[in-house]
Amino acid sequence: MRIFIYDLRDDEREYAIETAKQLHVDIEWTAEKLTLDTVDLSRGFQAVSILGHSTVDQAVLQRLKANHINFLSTRTIGYNHIDVQAAKQLGIQVANSEYAPNGVAEFTVMLMLMSIRKYKQALFRGNVNDYSLVGLQGQEMKDLTVGILGSGKIGSTVVNCLSGFGCNILVYDPYPNQMLKQKATFVDLDTLYAKSDVISLHLPLLADTYHMINDEAIARMKPGVVLINCARGGLVDIGALIKGIETKKIGALGLDVIENEEGIYHQDRRTDILRNREMAYLRQFPNVTMTQHMAFYTDAAVRSMVVTSLESLVSFMQTGDCKYTLR
Ligand code: NAD
Repeated sequence: MRIFIYDLRDDEREYAIETAKQLHVDIEWTAEKLTLDTVDLSRGFQAVSILGHSTVDQAVLQRLKANHINFLSTRTIGYNHIDVQAAKQLGIQVANSEYAPNGVAEFTVMLMLMSIRKYKQALFRGNVNDYSLVGLQGQEMKDLTVGILGSGKIGSTVVNCLSGFGCNILVYDPYPNQMLKQKATFVDLDTLYAKSDVISLHLPLLADTYHMINDEAIARMKPGVVLINCARGGLVDIGALIKGIETKKIGALGLDVIENEEGIYHQDRRTDILRNREMAYLRQFPNVTMTQHMAFYTDAAVRSMVVTSLESLVSFMQTGDCKYTLR
C-alpha cells in the first residue's frame, strides 16, 4: 500500500514515519498543498492525506480519480475544504481525523486565568524591567461564575477542568450533555449572559451561530465580562468586541480565533503589510490576549491527527470503510 502525504509539517514527520512502519505502508510526502499544480505528485499512489490548507474541489478530485486514487483523508477535524459530495459522486472515499478535546480545553482555561490575572500586562512589563503591581490586581476563580456555551466534546472538558477551581459553572446548550449535571447548572442563554463573569464559547460556526456574540448579546452581559473564544472567529462580531472593550463593558478578551484569520494565522507575515485593521486594533489593548489559533496544537493532538489519517486510509484499502468516513 502506498500513501502520499501533502502539506506534511516538520512536526508531523516523525509520527508519519512511525505510523507507516507500524501499518506496513509506504509513504512519500511533500510540504506542498494539494492543488491542481501538485496533484500529479501523488500519481502511482493509492491514497492521499492532506491538511486543511488544501482546497479539494471537483477539479482536483477529478484529477485524483484520473490518477486512480480512491481514498483521501484530512489530518484535521474540520473538512469544509473538501467537496465531499463531489468526492462521493466520483467514488472517492473521504475521512477526517480526531484528537482528544483536552488540549483546547486546557488552553481555554489558560486564557481565562491570563485574563482574570491580567497576565499580558505583567508579561509585557517584565520585558522592560517594570516590576510594579499597579493595575495588575486580579480575581480568583472561586469567586466567579463561568458560563460555557456549548457542552460538546470541548465545552464539557472545560467544565471538567474548571470543576476543581470552585467556581460556579453555568452551561447553555440546546442539546445539554447530561453527564455534566453534577458539576454545572444548565440555564437558558439569557440567564447565562446575565449571570456570568466569564463566558467561553465552544459551539460550531453555523448559519444560526454566525455573529451570535454581537452588540445585542454583549448588552445583555454583566459589566466587565471576560469573553473567551477558542471556537471559531465568525461566532463573534469583531466590531462589537471593539465597542465592548472601548466602553469597558467587556473587562477582558481571550481570543485564540478571530474572523478573517485565514492567510494570517499559522504563517510568518512579519515583513508583510497586513490589511486586517480590526485585528491589529484589538490586539493592542492591554486587556486583550490573542493567540494564533493554536489551542489544538499539542504533541498528542498532532500525533493523533497523523495516526488517524493514515489508519483511515489503510482501513479504506483493506475493508472498504473506516471509523471516520465522511458520508
Ligand atoms: P462538538 O460538536 O462536540 O460540540 C458542540 C456543541 O455545541 C454541541 O453540544 C452542540 O449541541 C452545541 N451547540 C450547537 N449550537 C449551539 C448554540 N446555538 N448554543 C449553544 N450550544 C450550541 O464540538 P467541539 O469539538 O466541542 O468543538 C467546539 C468548537 O471548538 C467548534 O467551533 C470547533 O470548530 C472549535 N475548535 C477549535 C479549536 C482551536 O484550536 N481553537 C480546535 C478544535 C475545535
